[in-house]
Amino acid sequence: MKKPSTQKEVEQIAASLKIETRAFIGGKFVNAKSGKTIDSINPATGEVVARFAACDETDIDEAIAIANKTFERGVWSKKLPTERKHILLKFADLIEKNFVELSVLEALDSGKPVGEVMGTDLPETIHALRWHAEMADKRYGQVSPSGDDSVGIIMKEPVGVVACIAPWNFPIMTTTWKLAPALAEGNSVILKPASQTTLSILALVSLATEAGIPEGVLQVITGEGASVGKKLALHNDVHAVSFTGSTSVGKKLLEYSAQSNLKKIVLELGGKSPLILLNDVEDLSPVVEAALAASFWNTGQNCTANTRIYVPEARKEEFITCMLKGLAENWKIGHPFDPSNNMGPMISTSHHDKVLEYIEKGIAEGTRLLCGGKSMDGRIYIEPTLFADPKEDSVLLTDEIFGPVSCIIGVKSDEEAIMRANETEYGLQATLFTNDLIKAHKYARMIKAGTVSINKYCEGDITTPFGGLKMSGFGGQDNAEAAHEQYSEIKTIFFNLA
Ligand code: NAP
Repeated sequence: MKKPSTQKEVEQIAASLKIETRAFIGGKFVNAKSGKTIDSINPATGEVVARFAACDETDIDEAIAIANKTFERGVWSKKLPTERKHILLKFADLIEKNFVELSVLEALDSGKPVGEVMGTDLPETIHALRWHAEMADKRYGQVSPSGDDSVGIIMKEPVGVVACIAPWNFPIMTTTWKLAPALAEGNSVILKPASQTTLSILALVSLATEAGIPEGVLQVITGEGASVGKKLALHNDVHAVSFTGSTSVGKKLLEYSAQSNLKKIVLELGGKSPLILLNDVEDLSPVVEAALAASFWNTGQNCTANTRIYVPEARKEEFITCMLKGLAENWKIGHPFDPSNNMGPMISTSHHDKVLEYIEKGIAEGTRLLCGGKSMDGRIYIEPTLFADPKEDSVLLTDEIFGPVSCIIGVKSDEEAIMRANETEYGLQATLFTNDLIKAHKYARMIKAGTVSINKYCEGDITTPFGGLKMSGFGGQDNAEAAHEQYSEIKTIFFNLA
């Protein structure tokens, strides 16, 4: 289907979508045994789009039993890696074929601007799936240097049943970052999407099944995290949980693992990332462009949002002027179905209220408000908001707000910028602008973050591991071969040759 270019075209596609609302267990879409459902709300309008299955313990027990049986039978875990690769590649082709419908569904369900989904989320999803599919038959073990009398073979084996618990801010992309390497390694996978963004994940698994992923290898349990997610993480027959979400839920998952079978827990958590402009940079335009994207991309609902922007005090006012001009010229907020918008609503009313509360706290602390600060159109859109120079202990600098709220902070030296950038409990990503090669290397090593990006705002690419330090998580990384490590175990087979 041709990519839509007007809101009207997107609305027509949305109206024609066949929306799946049932959980996917044992190769079939099924209602929750209790018959209970949860409303799926369109963030742009507040309307109920659909009602999806609210699974409970009995549904979960069934899915986990099927996943284990399937794993033991080897229909996927023992399939030739090359065959797994071809099925995953076909899955990627099917996403490409259904690109427009999936993009519109994602925008409808999550409030993400459809232009962004078509421009970034879906292309990156397809790229990631193909990259991980190709890795399926390119992972080698090792032979130990044990001497003439013995030899150790070091193999990689799938973990078993992997539960992937995903957030709502990049639903299809984050889910694919998990399921692709987990499936490539031969695991049986159970997905638990965020309750706000379940619909696109159900559409995704339907394509996976069409591609040939066998029954029971990939399942989706829908329902509330506090019950369904918790039950998955507490279950003794789940062998790993890969989680992307908040630090508070991440902590609970570690407890659930400790209370059950010590399952492997991979945590990709929150952030409060800095952007640092060093003294030597003359041209502000690429820095401003990056700082705006880092603050407002995905309407600020982004784990690597750079919401602490450190600039030399002497250039601060010039930088602020450029930021306000760039924001007015290039950042358009409005209905997610208008392909020209690059910012949309908050995911939910409660999240909208939480973000506004942070803005109000910042204002009450006496922080200089540069722009924005209010709700728009009587709905859950929030104006892109910039503050300058909050107090050092301000909530604006300590807490992950997860909305379109960012701060510009003047500093007296490059050293002060690096020191203040590290004054956070998080350590996910950092952006550094400089033309000084030595400082770039030196400071990148000093910054405590999983990814430090020089002269560009980004998280690396599919070939580079992505994960956090400190309270931003641990246990593994998304992307690159590192992602495969988290879904495999090392097995040593040791031979006596004497
Ligand atoms: P969240 O509230 O932690 O929810 C994430 C997932 O966990 C959802 O599927 C949720 O289900 C489930 N969940 C909730 N309580 C649970 C429990 N007790 N046990 C097991 N699962 C549970 O996070 P969010 O609000 O969706 O996402 C925003 C957060 O994700 C931010 O902190 C952001 O920084 C982080 N994030 C990190 C990365 C990264 O790569 N580091 C990427 C994206 C987002 P329900 O939806 O049903 O409650």
